[in-house]
Amino acid sequence: MSEQPQSDALVLFGVSGDLAFKKLFPALYDMERRGNLTVPVIGVARAEWTVEDMRARARDAIRDEDDYVPEIADRLLARLAYVKGDYRDPETFQSLARALNGAKNPLHYLAVPPSMFAAVVEGLEAAGCASGARVVVEKPFGRDLQSAQALNRVLLNIFDEDSVFRIDHFLGKEPVQNILYFRFANSFLEPVWNRNYVKSVQITMAEDFGVAGRGRFYEEVGAIRDVVQNHLLQVVALLAMECPINEGAAALRDEKAKIFHATRPLSVGQLVRGQFRGYRGEPGVAPDSDVETYAALQLFIDSWRWQGVPFLVRAGKSLPVTATEVQVNLHYPPQALFAKDSPGRANFLRFRLGPDVLVGLGTRSKKHGEDMVGQCIELKAAHCAGDEMSAYERLIGDAMQGDKALFSRQDISEAQWRIIEPVLGGATPCHLYEPGSWGPAEADAIAAEWGGWCDPAAGRS
Ligand code: NDP
Repeated sequence: MSEQPQSDALVLFGVSGDLAFKKLFPALYDMERRGNLTVPVIGVARAEWTVEDMRARARDAIRDEDDYVPEIADRLLARLAYVKGDYRDPETFQSLARALNGAKNPLHYLAVPPSMFAAVVEGLEAAGCASGARVVVEKPFGRDLQSAQALNRVLLNIFDEDSVFRIDHFLGKEPVQNILYFRFANSFLEPVWNRNYVKSVQITMAEDFGVAGRGRFYEEVGAIRDVVQNHLLQVVALLAMECPINEGAAALRDEKAKIFHATRPLSVGQLVRGQFRGYRGEPGVAPDSDVETYAALQLFIDSWRWQGVPFLVRAGKSLPVTATEVQVNLHYPPQALFAKDSPGRANFLRFRLGPDVLVGLGTRSKKHGEDMVGQCIELKAAHCAGDEMSAYERLIGDAMQGDKALFSRQDISEAQWRIIEPVLGGATPCHLYEPGSWGPAEADAIAAEWGGWCDPAAGRS
């Protein structure tokens, strides 16, 4: 845990926006409910609001929470203040300085379009609001390596690296943290967790819906930038990294960085892109859009542990199910002893990350009867949901304490872009696929050499 001081104010830039409404206000409500929010919260936006308008918006955002208690909501609303202004206007930051009322270590949360990041941090510095402060930067962190480097230059010109919190909300999710915990809190995994036993690793992030009215946003990103470059590469690192020397942020991020540096940059033959039929008819989408709503790729990590083991990653919209999961497939036993048995699925370990959460161990077990033939039996440990922190509650709390373990670092964010960079910009064709299918047929080739894609729906029963 960091020894840095606790933040003494929280500033939400973009408080009138979608993210604040959907995620940040509910997270603040939960912090208030648990007694973890003790500081003023200052919202900033251009909207012609009074503080009462902002409170009404916050109440709308939280009133449908399962555990909504009006008295707790009132406590949260009493903390709120509002500063109206444009980020390109220095007066906005003078008003903010007054509203901060002497706070020495504010946390500035940039829930604003990336094009505004530079204006905000420069405005903060000019008004004296950057000194002693921390800044949380939302995704996307750049569009490519060059823009990520430029963004890092802007941020690090004003804040030191220890004060910059690059958010990847995926890292705040309980089942994602459990990958790290499960790997390093159990000793039975380590002997097989390497190229000698692991045949392939598959990571699937499937959504059974399309762009849900967010076509304009999606046109700027596509599947690779939206979820592969950030969330799914982080999952690869958690699966592949060595055990950190301690649980501190620096040790954890050092090990992740090694994985990203050892991962070969993608070549065009290792990626298949797809677009679901009908995407071009979505509001805000160009009629000739080449943006992918599906991506399947092969990653290879040049390390002693993982040489030759493919990390097969796919993500897509309008697929048959909504499911995010990891499947680590082990090699078949070296001798096919049971002649009448069909090979079937071999042994595997499965981390189901959402929407339901479980860890499964795929085994082969004999069927009743005279013959020595078997079937796949999966031993499952399902997670029963309790009063868990949302990813945003966890991450805001961590940032306010200065704990950086679940945030990205400059070298890591740039190394992630280096892996993806060679295939950006339409370097590969975008194949059409039918909504409700598992993506374009061309994507089968990505996993063909290792037995094909595992079907997350098949593991559900
Ligand atoms: P919105 O467009 O809904 O909100 C943007 C906010 O920025 C609004 O409050 C807007 O204020 C404010 N803003 C924009 N330009 C200016 C300006 N010149 N001066 C003052 N205020 C300005 O965006 P989102 O909330 O959807 O996204 C915010 C960030 O979070 C983005 O970086 C996005 O990529 C990221 N993100 C969003 C997610 C989501 O689910 N929405 C998920 C993950 C990340 P006003 O309306 O008053 O003009």
